[in-house]
Amino acid sequence: MQYDVAIIGGSYAGLSAAMPLARACRKVVIIDAGQRRNRFAEHSHGFLTQDGSRASEIVHIAKQQVLAYQTVDWDDGRVKRVEKVDGGFAVCIDATRSITAKRLIIAAGITDQLPEISGLAERWGKSIFHCPYCHGYELNQGKIGIIASSEHAAHMAMMLPDWGNTTLFLNDYPVADELLDQLTTRGVTVEKRFIQQIIGHSDVLLADGSVIQLDGIFATTKCTIAQEWIFKLGCEIEQNTMGEAIKTNAMKETSVTGIFACGDVARLGGSVPLAVGDGTMAGAAAHRSLIFG
Ligand code: FAD
Ligand code: MG
Repeated sequence: MQYDVAIIGGSYAGLSAAMPLARACRKVVIIDAGQRRNRFAEHSHGFLTQDGSRASEIVHIAKQQVLAYQTVDWDDGRVKRVEKVDGGFAVCIDATRSITAKRLIIAAGITDQLPEISGLAERWGKSIFHCPYCHGYELNQGKIGIIASSEHAAHMAMMLPDWGNTTLFLNDYPVADELLDQLTTRGVTVEKRFIQQIIGHSDVLLADGSVIQLDGIFATTKCTIAQEWIFKLGCEIEQNTMGEAIKTNAMKETSVTGIFACGDVARLGGSVPLAVGDGTMAGAAAHRSLIFG
């Protein structure tokens, strides 16, 4: 099947990218493996009109609205390979089928590499979070922990007192003395004892056996693209303080002609509203490029 645009990733960014193309009556396929980054959290916060809605419900409604357009197809698959061909791209899905498209929009999100601390992964998105804007308010100004697993985490620790009584767990991560002084001035407690395990709701069991009870914990992750086919396409990748992202211009064009990227895969730090905004731009820019080249 020959499409105008293939969109890889059918979550907030990909569905949003499809909308302007659908409304321009262009033939679009959205290919989605169903692994949203926020699938570990039940509710999503901070997106206007949907603050506190179920994260899955936002996607469900978006999918219904986008697929109502006759020229949009959906494929529940995983893209494993993409090749440049005459006039566009050949997209291989699950190694069982293949489509071609004149333009490509990568909306595949990122993979969070969690800090390796016992008890952390199973609490991810439930009582351990990556973003205070998304989940800080619901902690009701309670006791908050932040694990110093990156430079970004120490920076976040400076912000967290706005959301509650904050403890920074150094866990052996080197934080500059100057920043430690600033943290103390902000009222942050700096805990030097090593974390053994996270237990209960979000309590920290320290190496010496003592337990610090908390209402929630924040931890930064390393954001990785983790997909061979993206690297093989040759899109320029940029490193940032949170990991890596596909480099795009203001129109969400990548360094490779005909390929656009939007959402978490193409920005530093991400959120549902930012993914939706990026997607709108990528969809409109891909449409424009079909006409003007
Ligand atoms: P994603 O939502 O990650 O979607 C990418 C999609 O592409 C997935 O469905 C995936 O399966 C698919 N895909 C990837 N590779 C392929 C492939 N090769 N072939 C086919 N499909 C593929 N943000 C907020 O604004 N509010 C919140 O409350 C909030 N809470 C969060 C809670 C947690 C625990 C986490 C980790 C994040 C949270 N976020 C929140 C951030 C939010 O999840 C992301 O910013 C958002 O999901 C980015 O949307 P996206 O469309 O770019 O990528
Ligand atoms: Mg349809």
